[in-house]
Amino acid sequence: MSDASIWLVEDDRSIGAALLRTLLAEGYRAQWAASIAEARALEGVPDLVVLDRGLPDGDGLGLCRELLEQHAGLRVLMLTARTDEIDVVLGFDAGATDYVAKPFRLAELLARIRAQLRVGVVGRQQAVEVGDLQLDPGSRRVHVAGEEVLLRPKEFDLLARLADEPGSVVRRETLMSDVWDSHWFGGTKTLDVHIAALRRRIDPTHGPSRITTVRGVGYRLERP
Ligand code: CA
Repeated sequence: MSDASIWLVEDDRSIGAALLRTLLAEGYRAQWAASIAEARALEGVPDLVVLDRGLPDGDGLGLCRELLEQHAGLRVLMLTARTDEIDVVLGFDAGATDYVAKPFRLAELLARIRAQLRVGVVGRQQAVEVGDLQLDPGSRRVHVAGEEVLLRPKEFDLLARLADEPGSVVRRETLMSDVWDSHWFGGTKTLDVHIAALRRRIDPTHGPSRITTVRGVGYRLERP
């Protein structure tokens, strides 16, 4: 997918210019915006957005949410100097699919971009039904008892991974490496945060969760 469309939103002129040159040289269809306003004016549909947070006209988090509402299944790689745990969690909660700290290593960033674009392609499998839960990877839509449930990209990926093996425990390490990058540096607290969010969205108001915690091992999506 080397002709993928990448939007780069970065106000640092030297980083922006260098990255744009590199992405174009790699064969991507890359466009560069130096502000939120410029990003809104970009044309076409991106496969991936490389997004800075500290932008002259606002926080990239808001733009992240906005772009995800417009483009279902979009991958968003946050590239930012804000690396406190709370910032990373906020980034993922806004729908970012990867998070890279500045200063960054170019080869690693390019590898992560390739990984993000692979996930976008591989993510298309057959629709799955587990009881009254339906998950369609093609459209990235989820229905519970006939009602559509809106999930953030990582929540969807996580549910899709659990739904690959309903009734079986999927190990924490497996979830981390399949849903996040295998060399993700943030520890597995991110996983628990996303499971909690997923439960809030798909679980019935009363009764047990659809997702069982198997302490010290992983999680299981229950068959009815
Ligand atoms: Ca900046």
